[in-house]
Amino acid sequence: MSETGVHSSAIHERAQKAMGDAHLQEAYRSSTLRLYSHRMGAIGQVPGFEPLRERARELKREVMNHLDYYLAQFADSVEREGGKVHWARTAEDACAIVKEIVRNAGANEVVKGKSMVGEEIELNHALEAAGIDAIETDLGEMIVQLSGERPAHIVAPAIHKTRHDVSDLFVEKLHSTRTEDPEQLTAIARKTLREIFARAEVGMSGANFAVAETGSVVTIENEGNIRLCTTAPRVHVALVGIEKIIPRFSDLGVFLRLLGRSATGQKLTSYTSILTGPRRPGEDGPDEMHVVLIDNGRTGALADEKMREALYCIRCGACLNTCPVYRKIGGHAYGWVYSGPIGALITPQFVGLNQARELPFASSLCGACREVCPVKINIPDLLLHLRGEAQERTPATPHAGEVVSERKGMRLWAWAMKRPWVFSLGGAAVRLGIRWLPSSGGQGSKWITRLPFYPFSNWTKGRDFPEPDPVPFRERWKKLSS
Ligand code: SF4
Repeated sequence: MSETGVHSSAIHERAQKAMGDAHLQEAYRSSTLRLYSHRMGAIGQVPGFEPLRERARELKREVMNHLDYYLAQFADSVEREGGKVHWARTAEDACAIVKEIVRNAGANEVVKGKSMVGEEIELNHALEAAGIDAIETDLGEMIVQLSGERPAHIVAPAIHKTRHDVSDLFVEKLHSTRTEDPEQLTAIARKTLREIFARAEVGMSGANFAVAETGSVVTIENEGNIRLCTTAPRVHVALVGIEKIIPRFSDLGVFLRLLGRSATGQKLTSYTSILTGPRRPGEDGPDEMHVVLIDNGRTGALADEKMREALYCIRCGACLNTCPVYRKIGGHAYGWVYSGPIGALITPQFVGLNQARELPFASSLCGACREVCPVKINIPDLLLHLRGEAQERTPATPHAGEVVSERKGMRLWAWAMKRPWVFSLGGAAVRLGIRWLPSSGGQGSKWITRLPFYPFSNWTKGRDFPEPDPVPFRERWKKLSS
């Protein structure tokens, strides 16, 4: 069973552990690089990609500014088409609603398509506690469920596992024959799941988009498992975060063209399912369709005019693949369901800034995430805003080895920078003091291996520090310009 709850405060320990794991480093490096380069290739083929991003952003802005209106319209449309809408303010509400639907269906087992909001509300644990088996059917989700972990990536839950890991896992948990051939591994998973699909009474999915105009729930995928989850069982339950609404059916094309390309570099994913109500006479599909609209912190984010922008996210994962921090520390270091730059933004809003205080600081603010985001969320700007709030509400406690607090340190730096003589004296003192520190390398390429005092000591925990040149830049500049 995966650990439950939010563990974002332990990001530093988890990050250190991940960075010391060569196997994990290679899995993240190769997978994120592959997704990143596929995306580059795919967007290069789309004329007018920028206007498309602008349009998607405008649509999201429109929805978020009038979410009450569009939610009501969506709910009316679902009911009109014969579906049933349930409103869940919290994770507990959502789990209770789902349990009741499953009990009413007389089932003790459900099949699930990939759903991040399902992970967010810890649905599997709630169902398990109620004696209901929840079986993940997305290959990546199935792998992380078998290994008792959380997804490590929004789009690719098992990104941290190589095929050798998956092979070991299948041998141990499914008693399969050892193989490292991806096709054979997929066939093993398919065989296991087919029997479960055939007997399942209740199927669950998330939603990539929910169309207000038509009451349709739209899911996109590559494996076909979500399609089986939503059509084979007698009852379909769609878990929908309230930010997933889009206004009109005609807007869907804008988002579909962006999502596949940004996520995996595909023009479109293999399956796009548009589910509108339960089956009509003469059709295949479920007898009942339930849509659970989940708030769980979203209206709090919506109320903050600055942070509202984070709800534009369409969960493509492109910001994760490009983020130098995510690539090094991996998804599990973030300590909750959503990782990477978008996780650092939305986790504090969904679980409270106190619980996820460290996350906005887990960024180099390089801006790569903003560059790739299909809905142009200004992630670095929002992270800075959150950092300010975090500092206001809960000023950082002193770090081990911290001689001067960060705030005082910055003031001291500003004071010294305004007084050239203090700056030069400080530089001379540092150059003198540094001679006694442990170092490696010879004359001309000397590296300090251990710096005292936080935050400098943190730098040398992971890498060496180049010894400053004995001649200060100002003196060299004087000589050069004389
Ligand atoms: S923030 Fe943007 S890039 Fe990141 S997952 Fe969301 S939509 Fe994709």
